[in-house]
Amino acid sequence: MSEKSNLLIVGKPYIKLYDDKTYIFCDYSLKGESKKLWMHVDSEYSSKVDFDSSDPFSLVFLIIAMKNGVDLHFEGVLTDTLYVNISKDIQSIYCIIEPSLAQIKVTSSNMQSAIEHKGIGVGTGFSCGIDSYASLVDNYYEMPVQSHKITHLFQINHNQKLGVYDTKWQRNMPRFLKGAEEVNLPLIQIGSNFYSHVSLPYSQIHPLLNCSVAMLLRNVVGIYYYASGYKFEDIAIRKSHSAAYSDSILLPLLSTRSLFFYSTGSDKSRVEKTISISQFGIGRDSLDVCAKSPNKSLNCSLCYKCKRTMMTLDMLGELNSYGSCFDLSKWKRHRSNYIQEVLENTTNKYMEEIKKLGEDTGYFKRVEAARRRRELRAQINK
Ligand SMILES: [Zn+2]
Repeated sequence: MSEKSNLLIVGKPYIKLYDDKTYIFCDYSLKGESKKLWMHVDSEYSSKVDFDSSDPFSLVFLIIAMKNGVDLHFEGVLTDTLYVNISKDIQSIYCIIEPSLAQIKVTSSNMQSAIEHKGIGVGTGFSCGIDSYASLVDNYYEMPVQSHKITHLFQINHNQKLGVYDTKWQRNMPRFLKGAEEVNLPLIQIGSNFYSHVSLPYSQIHPLLNCSVAMLLRNVVGIYYYASGYKFEDIAIRKSHSAAYSDSILLPLLSTRSLFFYSTGSDKSRVEKTISISQFGIGRDSLDVCAKSPNKSLNCSLCYKCKRTMMTLDMLGELNSYGSCFDLSKWKRHRSNYIQEVLENTTNKYMEEIKKLGEDTGYFKRVEAARRRRELRAQINK
């Protein structure tokens, strides 16, 4: 691998077995330093991984090169479709999302037009959150087309260290496995060290990192659903802390002939997704919405994400069904304050949705009437 200071040079990927995991490495050279990106997957998938091409690493290297303002050269095979898109439109989109990124030139020693992969399965990321369960309702339980019905769940973490398995991610794995068992789908666990090589916020780069991992298993899946947290009317390419606004536009550009990425979930609001999940009764022992809790066996029940989910479920009369996921005693103590927050809100659109549901279901009136009855009883019993 030769070195040039204005060039990021990517070697050919190679595979190695460590412990019971299969690692796929890709060496690179940047500004005189040699480094490695890698992903690992359970050994049962080792015969399926694609290490013949650089595609699965290409999106991560693209963002590293753009961040460093250097051109990018792949010594391994690159699919032509991906080459066209990483050379042009994906860069243009990312330069708008994050203006500190530079447009760069991409080259490859070996471009191929049709790399064959055998994946006929359908994958999706699975975090046990509202978006991922809503994706399961739409693309698994209610998907009428068999070829588009989810067959595999992916649990992905990009903050792994070589040979270290006692991580927060692994300690939280029982909850993800429980959720996968509940919906009776296999859970593929894939770790990578990507995040430590990309100095940008995760919220800006997660589609590139996660779709890279899905490409590694193109011999397993030919379709991958990527759950979006934003509605279609919010979709836009703009400077933002979050790349998720651009999901519907960006994701098709990451597709190749053998793996198509779909953005899913932009047809529903968060409240509509929560209604849909609770109607199907899924995630009752594994729903994970918390923005804070380090212990994924239980949501903290106090952060803004916990509170808005608990209030929505309470309005739907479904909170007790999700009682094993939350601390309901904390909810009872803080409910009145949160109702006040929701009623007084004029800016947050998620809270606006919740306020509308509360008015439509008569929730606020019911809670107020119950409070008055309690006060009256207390006065009588004095
Ligand atoms: Zn929380």
